[in-house]
Amino acid sequence: MNSDRAVFLDKDGTLIEDIPHNVDPALLRLGPGVREGLALLHERGYRLVVVSNQPGVAHGYFPESALAAVEARLRDILTAMDTPLSGFSYCPHHPAGQVAPFARACDCRKPAAGMILRAADTYGIDLARSWMVGDILDDIQAGRTAGCRTVLLDNGHETEWVLAPGRRPHHTAADLAEAARIIVAQDQWAAGPGDPGPTSRGGGPP
Ligand SMILES: [Mg+2]
Ligand SMILES: [Zn+2]
Repeated sequence: MNSDRAVFLDKDGTLIEDIPHNVDPALLRLGPGVREGLALLHERGYRLVVVSNQPGVAHGYFPESALAAVEARLRDILTAMDTPLSGFSYCPHHPAGQVAPFARACDCRKPAAGMILRAADTYGIDLARSWMVGDILDDIQAGRTAGCRTVLLDNGHETEWVLAPGRRPHHTAADLAEAARIIVAQDQWAAGPGDPGPTSRGGGPP
């Protein structure tokens, strides 16, 4: 499906259960509400795009090539659910890493917005009509910096709560199912009562 709207999704702790630095595809488990949430978003025409920090590459915990198997497994799971991913982006960098050439500052590690901006360019996504969902405030900051609206999954994964205007989520949700319901409701509200609905929406507003 070609759409200019997307929901950018953090991976660990948002789409799948967070096992730090895991790259064993067999251990991937979907998080709570993910099946239901992705089904709703896909039905309403949002592209689904993963944007994931993977500093384990820069730290030498696993080779970059290990991420291909993780991506393949996640794509298989989601395709089998009829909610395929449009994109899967990761940042392998960390400024305090050990492994060249990944041990450096970059513009893609969240809270920077590089992964979102590049995916928007690749897929023709309208960031003002799109959303970022994550489980920590760095995800929120990345989404806001890119010009998206944001939903924080308030599932206990954020522990530092360094709040600033650019890190304040537009909405919070208990899980991805609730996040999806908020996104759909907000966009329906924004579209107004005369909106014919997603099935007849072609090129966006005039
Ligand atoms: Mg996360
Ligand atoms: Zn990076």
